[in-house]
Amino acid sequence: AFNFCAGPAALPEAVLRQAQAELLEWGAERASVMEVSHRGAAFEALVAQAEADLRSLMGIPDDYAVLFLQGGATQQFALLPMNLAAPGQGADYVVSGHWSQRAVAEGEPHVRTRVLVDAADAAGLYLRAPEVDAAAVDPDAAYLHYCHNETIHGVEFPAVPDSGAVPLVGDFSSTILSRPLDVARFGVIYAGAQKNIGPSGLALVIVRRDLLERAGQPRARVLTWAAHARAGSLLHTPPTFSIYLAALVFAWLREMGGLEVMAAINQRKAQRLYHAIDDSEGFYRNPVDPASRSWMNVPFWLHDEGLNAAFLEESREAGLLALKGHREIGGLRASLYNAMPEAGVAALTDFMGDFARRKG
Ligand code: PLP
Repeated sequence: AFNFCAGPAALPEAVLRQAQAELLEWGAERASVMEVSHRGAAFEALVAQAEADLRSLMGIPDDYAVLFLQGGATQQFALLPMNLAAPGQGADYVVSGHWSQRAVAEGEPHVRTRVLVDAADAAGLYLRAPEVDAAAVDPDAAYLHYCHNETIHGVEFPAVPDSGAVPLVGDFSSTILSRPLDVARFGVIYAGAQKNIGPSGLALVIVRRDLLERAGQPRARVLTWAAHARAGSLLHTPPTFSIYLAALVFAWLREMGGLEVMAAINQRKAQRLYHAIDDSEGFYRNPVDPASRSWMNVPFWLHDEGLNAAFLEESREAGLLALKGHREIGGLRASLYNAMPEAGVAALTDFMGDFARRKG
């Protein structure tokens, strides 16, 4: 079966098979990776290898720290202002859909949030990545936050926006590692793991080291990025199994040939699905502005919503899983993260063509 879930999402089959094979006895440890001390040499080496592989995949410069944290991306919505904004300081936010709205809501108790631009159209729909005017960013803002890929709306920024002199913070939960990225453009890149990295609950934070020196706000040490950076992501017991799986995913990506190769594959997958939608003579539709269409999450609608239940039932029978759209916007959605093989998208577009012929 091919799993199109938006998250937690499919993991590469080779990764799951390796994890299965090593589940009871990990390497020379003669115990599961879940059963060994995070202070032991083997686990410390694993974290170091995961970080080194990620740095090499993404070309992360040395003046950036890499943190493996807990609490998913949502916790980072709150830690961001706590760590980067002084009491009373403001921060600018770009709103392009659900998750960038959530970032504002979670940030609000800790920073004076200002929505620099909200991309909703007159009907309240999010169908395009907005233009961001660097000159309009408050020069005193602690940062400018945006969500590079809105998982629910299927809206992705075609290019990294310009935030001028203010540090740019990007939520990359649903697009990280799908293609190369110029890390040096950012103050902070963060992501929940459960789409392109590994199991849910883990969060990745890539932060420019000078920002770790900001005092931020009164907070516990466990909520302090700098403390995690000093401890090499081992400040307290980390989610060891999740980090282990993430390490396997990074190694798999390197074996696949890296992010240039993944980008070519991901672009082909997305193009194939968008073509199937656009060439269906209105049977299927995706209303997102073509320049802002996500490579990772493709929401689409049937011309007759009354066919949704049949589509979902028959697709599931055909081994195409989790195509129901998000409850906030309805319809259908296919997520095409790195672990989705091209054959999975081909099976989906074949099914869609057949369904349209039978029901059209
Ligand atoms: N940001 C984006 C873009 C997401 O897609 C999600 C979840 O799917 C989140 C943030 C929230 O992540 P979490 O559930 O890990 O807190």
